[in-house]
Amino acid sequence: MLYANGLGISLDKREKGSDIDFVSHAHTDHMAAVRSTKHILASDETIDLISSIHGIDLSDRKAVTDGKVKMLDSGHILGSKQLVVDDEVSGKRITYSGDFQMLPQRASNLIEIDNTDILIIDSTYPDPARRFPDKAEVESLIQKWTESMLKKGIVLFGAFATGKAQELIKILNEINVLPVVSKKISQVNKAYGRAGYDLDYCSAYDNNPEYETVIRGNFVGITEKHPLYDLKELMHSAHSKDVFTAVATGMVNRTPFDAEARFVLSDHADFYQSTEYIDATEAKKVLTYGPNAKLFASNLSKHGYDAEPFSEYLWIKQPLLEANEAEL
Ligand SMILES: [Zn+2]
Repeated sequence: MLYANGLGISLDKREKGSDIDFVSHAHTDHMAAVRSTKHILASDETIDLISSIHGIDLSDRKAVTDGKVKMLDSGHILGSKQLVVDDEVSGKRITYSGDFQMLPQRASNLIEIDNTDILIIDSTYPDPARRFPDKAEVESLIQKWTESMLKKGIVLFGAFATGKAQELIKILNEINVLPVVSKKISQVNKAYGRAGYDLDYCSAYDNNPEYETVIRGNFVGITEKHPLYDLKELMHSAHSKDVFTAVATGMVNRTPFDAEARFVLSDHADFYQSTEYIDATEAKKVLTYGPNAKLFASNLSKHGYDAEPFSEYLWIKQPLLEANEAEL
C-alpha cells in the first residue's frame, strides 16, 4: 500500500486498511479490489470495461480525490493509467506505473511521461536477456503469415481478450481482413468502440450482415481460449478446411502454446523499454512491484539504478513519519 497525502492507496490489490483502491487497468490480475466495497480510483474506460466483461458496476464507487492524486495514460490497454501523487508532507512526487508500454499501439493511448522522484514500477519483464523483437517487424510478419495461410485455409489466432485481441484486429484490418471473434472479445470490442476505437470484426453473437458471408470463405478467427487444439478440430470438421493456428503474446517463451506460429506481440515494456521509461521520468529512486520485483531490482541495480523491491514501510511510510517528527 502507498501512504501519501493522508491516504492509504492500494495499488492494483485488495488490501486491509486502504482508503482508496487504485485499479490501473481492466486485466484480472490487477482487479482484485473491485470485489471489495471501497472507493475505486480508475479511468472511466476501465470502469466501462470491467462492467462489460465482468458485469461489475463500479459507477457509484468512484473515488473523489479532490486533486490529491492524478492519473496519466500508461500505454498498455484501453483506459490503462499510471498513478501520480505529489506528497505534501515529504515534498516528493511518487508515481506508480501499473502495466505500461512505451511504444505506440493501435488500440490505446500513448504513454504520458512526467518527471517523478520515486517510481514504483511494474516488474513483468525483469530480465535483460529477454528483449522483444522490433514491433513493426512482428506486425508485418503477422500480416504476411496470415495472407499466406488464408490462401490455404482458415487461420485461428489465440490472443488475450482485452487489449491484445483489439491490437490484432487493427493489424488484420490493415490488410483488409475482417476477423471473426469470440463472444467475449466482441463484448470487449464494444467498450473499445464506445471509447472511439473503430474495430472491423464480426461474430456469431452480433447482428453482423457480413458474418454468414465471411465464414463461407477462408477466414481468420480470434479466440481468447487456450489450448487451441480442440477449437481447431471443431473448425476443421465444421468447415471441412485446413485450420492454421497462431498465438500473439509477449509470453511466448514462458508459456507452452499449442500453435503452429508464435508472434511476440506484447503490450508491456521489456527490460530495456523499462529503463527508457525510468530515464524519461528522471526518477531518483526505483521501487520494483509485482511477482518479479526482487529479480528486477537486482538487474536494475546492476545497470546503475537505485532500485529495490517496493516496501511500504521502508520507503513510503517511513520518510513521511520522519518528516512529521521533524515538524514537531
Ligand atoms: Zn495488464
